[in-house]
Amino acid sequence: GSPGQELRIVLLGLDNAGKTTLLKRLASEEVSTITPTQGFNIKSVHSHGFKLNIWDIGGQRAVRPYWRKYLGSTDLLIYVIDSADQKRFEETGQELAELTEEESLMGVPLLVFANKQDLVTAAPAAEIAEGLSLHSYRDREWQIQACSALSGEGVQDGMNWISKHIM
Ligand code: GDP
Repeated sequence: GSPGQELRIVLLGLDNAGKTTLLKRLASEEVSTITPTQGFNIKSVHSHGFKLNIWDIGGQRAVRPYWRKYLGSTDLLIYVIDSADQKRFEETGQELAELTEEESLMGVPLLVFANKQDLVTAAPAAEIAEGLSLHSYRDREWQIQACSALSGEGVQDGMNWISKHIM
């Protein structure tokens, strides 16, 4: 965004991907507000000049119309994946594919966090990128970043990519 304007980031992924853990890392003590929205589990955080909206995605066609309105004027999309949960790779890939087809997210830069890399069963980021067909995205900047929200490893590298690409 332009100077003085708050950057709007949405952080999405399946339940249990590690979004809340990551959010705490990204925002650290600077969190000024976390606002759970009534009737729909969305959280908002203001930190370091950005506003971050976060919610679970997947298995919720019924509430999709409600969260769609939070996608408007998004500057950046962060998508979090549990790299150790191979059983849900197809599901999370499908959700991401649908998300990137949302009109309001056209051209919006995408940062994928291949989370939980501290687990021995975690798939490497390159393998996840392959499974998600990230290389076929032509209309947006994208990056995949291996990380552990638990230990913090890789999280700052992801943030560095963000600051290079949109701030
Ligand atoms: P959310 O549903 O996407 O918000 O996921 P949470 O942040 O609540 O995390 C779900 C579970 O995964 C919790 O038990 C977390 O402690 C755990 N978790 C999150 N990130 C990591 C990680 O990087 N490594 C490991 N081993 N566990 C993680």
